[in-house]
Amino acid sequence: MSKDCIFCKIAAEEIPSHKIYEDDYVLAFLDIHPCSTGHAVVIPKKHFESIEEIDAENLAFLNDGARRAAKKIYSVLKPDGMNIGLNDKPAAGQAVPHIHLHIIPRWKGDGGGSMHSIVRAKTTEPAEETVKKFV
Ligand code: 5GP
Ligand code: ZN
Repeated sequence: MSKDCIFCKIAAEEIPSHKIYEDDYVLAFLDIHPCSTGHAVVIPKKHFESIEEIDAENLAFLNDGARRAAKKIYSVLKPDGMNIGLNDKPAAGQAVPHIHLHIIPRWKGDGGGSMHSIVRAKTTEPAEETVKKFV
């Protein structure tokens, strides 16, 4: 547990939350400022800040928790789709520094966009140049 971390406090039940899924490693609860009905946040119970920090085992638990929470949301709220994603680090919009996956239920005609609508930063570098940096 990380002192002063809101999500650690939610995991420890020091702060109440509306839980929709829980197991030994993961908790999913409704977002306090929902983007749509049923918008949920899935967290590992152990504190990790970002995708660089979390280990493979806990990430696997987090993903499986998200899968289970998403199935519950599909079965209860019957959305037409979902956006599932991670704001990793403040530059990408992460406000709470405890890694979490957002599950945002979507309905036809709700006016929202896809992940591609989050950012449209200009890229001048061709993919052929970018890929060379990975070898
Ligand atoms: P981030 O911007 O870090 O990816 O998302 C953090 C999310 O956590 C936000 O959507 C915000 O509304 C939600 N959130 C922050 N504090 C609380 C809280 O105390 N309870 C709940 N249920 N959600 C919270
Ligand atoms: Zn934490």
